[in-house]
Amino acid sequence: MARYCDSVCRLCRREGIKLFLKGDRCFSDKCAIERRQYAPGQHGQARKKQSEYGTQLREKQKVKRIYGILERQFRRYFSMAERMKGITGDNLILLLERRLDNLVCRMGFGRSREEARQLVRQGHFTVNGKRVNIPSYLVQQGDVVAVAEKSRKIARINEALAGAERRGLPEWVSLNKDDYSAQLMAYPAGEQLVMGHIKPQLIVELYSK
Ligand code: SF4
Repeated sequence: MARYCDSVCRLCRREGIKLFLKGDRCFSDKCAIERRQYAPGQHGQARKKQSEYGTQLREKQKVKRIYGILERQFRRYFSMAERMKGITGDNLILLLERRLDNLVCRMGFGRSREEARQLVRQGHFTVNGKRVNIPSYLVQQGDVVAVAEKSRKIARINEALAGAERRGLPEWVSLNKDDYSAQLMAYPAGEQLVMGHIKPQLIVELYSK
């Protein structure tokens, strides 16, 4: 599978917003975008007028990068979103939010989605008591995600949990640090989905061409 191996901070600078790809560093003054608010590369500081297509494309890249999804899988999510009831753009983001690796990060067990994905692959989590090691597993409303019994001493998980509130917990999950578990209370909707800076409608327009 193709992997991006360059500095992930370049991706944030390219999109012009924080994508929160580096865990605790993203919340500190070491964040690259705080220091250099322009695109990377030789022409990064040149002002460019963006076409409609360019704007739509950038929006898709932004969302793919936030969730760490490659094109083929992203297309698959889009097809699923189209077949669901409701607004396709919102459905797309909801599907991405329901991924187990995303929720492990959102619930505070991992400092970034990348770290959460590794932890899931290594089999450190259960969903409703059953071990699940598939990062793309779609969690249902009401499901309980927990750290497997034998994984509760792992330093990375404990360090992530210690900073969970500081990084911010969404109101639609409830974390119980004492028993290393969290519940997906409700599916995010409306503003909770777009986090103030995602415009999923642009992705729908791009794929509808
Ligand atoms: Fe993006 Fe985090 Fe790097 Fe800041 S520190 S540029 S938010 S990945």
